[in-house]
Amino acid sequence: MKIGIIGAGAMGSLFGGHLALGGQDVTLIDVNADHLSAINEKGLIVEGPSGVDCARPRAGRPEDFTETQDFVIIFTKGAHTEDALVSALHLVNERTWVLTAQNGLGNADLIARHVPSDRIAIGTTSYAATLRGPGRLRLQAGGDLRIWAANGSRALAVERLAEAISASGLDCKTDPKVEGAIWEKIAFNAAINSLSAVTKYRVGELGDFPAGRELAELVAKEVAEVACARGVEFDLSRVHDLLEAAFTQHREHQPSMLCDVLAGRETEIENINGAVVAQAHRLGLQVRVTETLLLLVRLIERSVRK
Ligand code: NAD
Repeated sequence: MKIGIIGAGAMGSLFGGHLALGGQDVTLIDVNADHLSAINEKGLIVEGPSGVDCARPRAGRPEDFTETQDFVIIFTKGAHTEDALVSALHLVNERTWVLTAQNGLGNADLIARHVPSDRIAIGTTSYAATLRGPGRLRLQAGGDLRIWAANGSRALAVERLAEAISASGLDCKTDPKVEGAIWEKIAFNAAINSLSAVTKYRVGELGDFPAGRELAELVAKEVAEVACARGVEFDLSRVHDLLEAAFTQHREHQPSMLCDVLAGRETEIENINGAVVAQAHRLGLQVRVTETLLLLVRLIERSVRK
């Protein structure tokens, strides 16, 4: 299967690297020159719980490639989804499926401006990965990827992709209820990412203070109300369990939004809290805590952006 990954950072390299090791024809598309050169010169080094491997996917900028792909997986940060897809649209033909398993809301809508909605797949992943340097990726912990066609129908192509990913050693399931899982992850991210970006606390420290826990639960509840008003099957107890696991088992984890603030980069606040607030307002709902955190992160982002 020809699989193009647009955005070959931590997650793109994780899935692209495993798929290449699993024998799939993988093309990594990115704009980070150092990372691309390192992969082309030395291969993509994949560090994980079971050891270290070297994958050999193709890697380059979008204009370096011409061959259309069976699947394109987008793993840029939310702010770059549309520009990145447009720059690689020549690799998409009338049979290509496009998958987004990025965090946040709205990516599938942006993709649908350029790709028919019956060839878009959506997903969510609980894998965590970091780039340790150009051409070097570390898988942090176990997890899974759940995917389904965005229009809600069962699709053979999506099942084939799930099989290819699972055969490569990562756990991937098709899940008709993936929209609920996506919203549950948004609730978790809207709480943990924004609170840590504002306070500079790691996840464990947030959980050590009753105020941190209370704010996280309030955000989760607000997101649940928005999801339910949209008719999404949302299980608040699963978000509570995710928060509890993060507070106790991933104490040292520094959420990506805090990393972005500390590095003076744009965060995904608009795709996460921002998207929830926009949906709430459309539905006539108030999400005061989620909105306050959105405004605070916007202020912080403005003061630290390089
Ligand atoms: P990342 O910053 O490591 O990677 C994003 C990549 O996109 C970068 O390599 C960047 O150079 C590239 N990019 C930017 N603009 C581009 C363009 N125009 N064309 C091509 N490539 C472009 O981010 P990440 O951590 O891999 O996260 C990707 C998505 O997955 C985000 O939505 C994130 O929230 C989500 N996610 C991340 C993790 C994680 O553990 N890292 C876990 C779950 C979900």
